[in-house]
Amino acid sequence: MAVMAQPMGCPGHCVYCPSFHDSPRSYTPESPAVLRGHRYEYDPRRQVRERLNMFEAMGHPTDKVELIVMGGTFLATPPEYQYQFIQGCYEGLNGSRAGGLSEARDGNRWAAHRCVGLCVETRPDFCGDAEVARLLEFGCTRVELGVQTLADDTYNLVGRGHTVEDVATATRLLKDRGFKVYYHWMPGLPGTTPERDMELFGHLFSDSRFRPDGLKLYPTLVVQGSELALWWRQGHYTPYETETLMELLCYMKSSLPPYVRVSRIMRDIPTQFILAGCKQSNLGEMVTRRLGPGGCRCIRCREYGHRLRDGWGISTPHLHRMDYEASDGQEVFLTMEDDSQTLWGLLRLRWPFEGPDAAVVRELHVYGPEVGLGRRGMRAAQHQGLGETLMRQAERVALEEFRVSRLAVLSGVGAQEYYVNLGYRPQGPYMCRNLTPIFTPPARLRAGTNPLPRR
Ligand code: SF4
Ligand SMILES: [Zn+2]
Repeated sequence: MAVMAQPMGCPGHCVYCPSFHDSPRSYTPESPAVLRGHRYEYDPRRQVRERLNMFEAMGHPTDKVELIVMGGTFLATPPEYQYQFIQGCYEGLNGSRAGGLSEARDGNRWAAHRCVGLCVETRPDFCGDAEVARLLEFGCTRVELGVQTLADDTYNLVGRGHTVEDVATATRLLKDRGFKVYYHWMPGLPGTTPERDMELFGHLFSDSRFRPDGLKLYPTLVVQGSELALWWRQGHYTPYETETLMELLCYMKSSLPPYVRVSRIMRDIPTQFILAGCKQSNLGEMVTRRLGPGGCRCIRCREYGHRLRDGWGISTPHLHRMDYEASDGQEVFLTMEDDSQTLWGLLRLRWPFEGPDAAVVRELHVYGPEVGLGRRGMRAAQHQGLGETLMRQAERVALEEFRVSRLAVLSGVGAQEYYVNLGYRPQGPYMCRNLTPIFTPPARLRAGTNPLPRR
């Protein structure tokens, strides 16, 4: 569920970014999310309520909600505004007002519409210690960094105003605190070529300072209201042809490691605002079709719900494990997948966390029937104990291999109760469990009072 923040500008001056006085930076006036934001005067409560009503009318379950805060660089707006806005998002879900952010956030633990994930978009240079501490207070679980490329000369040329080093630093800081990190990536920026784009894309995964958990691929477009429009008119910039872009995206998708999720290709820009560049809003589908079944190993293409919808035969899932290094930490990517790599669930474990004596679970996701809900033959992957199997395996790895005594989980506030049932207790923004002794039945926890304080 996207919630649009009030237009407040952005400290950045990226040449490709459209700027209209009544729209949030990087959005055009007629984008659906902007229209909605505008209609509700950018009030987060009203936006959330309206979306909930709409999802319900469409027959989608609304008990678990993932929120994404959109519009410019939210973390660069005045902090008081940020607190009020996030409070408003929770109030919208809770259906009641609160005295402050913490009351609204904690009240969401038992709300009918629970926030199981909160995502904020930001720039790598607006993602330091202070911002990350604030994100934890907000109950944020995922951060989308505007990275776009990994070349300082291109950053200079397009006026990004930050460096490749800033990307590495922000990525490490976020992962070290347990966040999931997605990058926005723009092929075809000024000064680049398809060959260079391929090479830089390779760096994303060959260089352990980056290795994002997910990507949104946004091919560079010449959008009305941007400086790039002027460059294009003056003949200083030409976007890639659709065919070049297709080939490039096919290459990118087919070279992805299995721990990445490509959640989007193409920005949601109304075609009348696109002056030059690919206008095919279904470019993602075109790429998937060209690659054929199994052509992309990313998480999204392998998700149980998507594959079931696409008619794949699904067999019994088994536990898989992949280890890799990222941002000076050890990542263990645990999955439940069947013989054709269809994903039923995944977990990201990272060590060290706040020192060598702890590890953190950055993500636990079991894929449910939300895709194509109501179709015949749809079996729910959720609630079959896969989440618990993954968590227990993470505990085993953390205890026996990393020799830690504590495992923390960064989850949306609305998912915290799930971890209570697995023996976890709230510690600041995390749910934590002491790992010694391990595997004792959590009977004492079931019998005791609920450690999450109720209002
Ligand atoms: S940082 Fe993002 S919102 Fe800000 S100018 Fe650049 S592209 Fe636009
Ligand atoms: Zn994919």
